[in-house]
Amino acid sequence: MTSATALEERHGAHNYHPLDVVLSHGEGVWVTDTDGRRYLDCLAGYSSLNFGHRHPALVEAVQTQLERITLTSRAFHHDQLGHFCAELAQLAGKDMVLPMNTGAEAVESAIKVARKWGYEVKGVPADRATIVVADGNFHGRTTTIVGFSTDPQARSGFGPFPGGFRHVAFGDSAAMAAAIDETTVAVLIEPIQGEAGVVVPPEGYLADVRRFCDENGVLFIADEIQSGLGRTGTTFACDLWDVSPDVYVLGKALGGGILPVSAVIADASVLGVLRPGDHGSTFGGNPLACAVARAVIELLADATHQQGAATRGAHLHRRLTDLVGSGVVATRGVGLWAGVDIDPAIATGREVCEDLAALGVLAKDTHGSTIRLAPPLTINEVEIDLVVDSLADVVARR
Ligand code: PLP
Repeated sequence: MTSATALEERHGAHNYHPLDVVLSHGEGVWVTDTDGRRYLDCLAGYSSLNFGHRHPALVEAVQTQLERITLTSRAFHHDQLGHFCAELAQLAGKDMVLPMNTGAEAVESAIKVARKWGYEVKGVPADRATIVVADGNFHGRTTTIVGFSTDPQARSGFGPFPGGFRHVAFGDSAAMAAAIDETTVAVLIEPIQGEAGVVVPPEGYLADVRRFCDENGVLFIADEIQSGLGRTGTTFACDLWDVSPDVYVLGKALGGGILPVSAVIADASVLGVLRPGDHGSTFGGNPLACAVARAVIELLADATHQQGAATRGAHLHRRLTDLVGSGVVATRGVGLWAGVDIDPAIATGREVCEDLAALGVLAKDTHGSTIRLAPPLTINEVEIDLVVDSLADVVARR
């Protein structure tokens, strides 16, 4: 019989290079391959599985909704959307929600909203709107978004790209201040850059961005698709610095690792610029997506997951720091989110991930020699020790 990976190799587009593991089951922080081997999942669907695989409350919400109705399209009302929007808006402290599906789609939607707001509310001359973005950003894979990526591989071969974006170094307040002018409608940044290797900005940076936006009538759009919903030990990464952006963009964990669910969240003064026919999505805000996202929001309500991520995250970072100097050059991060720079002289990030998989830990490399650790927030200290001990083992043997 042809194996699943051989079929994938022959018939699937080769836009990924997965580790040689074929998973068939998942529960909590653990996944199992087709030979029955168990692995601790330290990638968690790029932070989509913040509550682990098949969290019972999320599975139950989906099963209940499956028995009722799954899709209406937005041509008709359904009985989940209003509740979902109200509950998510409340979680973010805003008025309104624009529901979409994937992260990139939500980022695209936020760009459209910011431009329309710029023309209609700020009074920017037609087609002159600019948006300030950061070097090293990752906001998705559509043509507009890769057009303002600074990663050559993300862009190469996919032009021509739309204009209207200005780049600044991430974390550089002076550069941000200098980039903003009367055509600027928004600053779009990840509060912590995930794909770049879990890069945490300097103290005061987000507050500076907030201030520059206030002083210049510019929308602060925080892409919290990877950083949001508990990952950093707070509901939003922006909370770490007590900063409230004008627009949150969420995705990944909003769908509980079960469905693609994303959203743009802002006050009515911003999202109110959209009128019927301006924007849409066949699946955005469907009843099944709303049901699972409502269950996710409920899981975050009493802050247990956020607090757990903060405490166990501190343990993770303490343990990782001890590896610096022994095959590890540096570690960064906050909450249950870490970027670990492996000494490039001993191994690539890919090789370390392959060795880790052999020891039963799944992680993902990024940018050559960095490994990203983002386990489900439900991971316990013993499991964290297992991850760090395995990493210590792998680098010691190289
Ligand atoms: N924005 C950020 C910060 C992300 O990390 C990602 C995905 O990794 C995206 C946007 C794109 O999300 P999606 O892959 O769902 O389109």
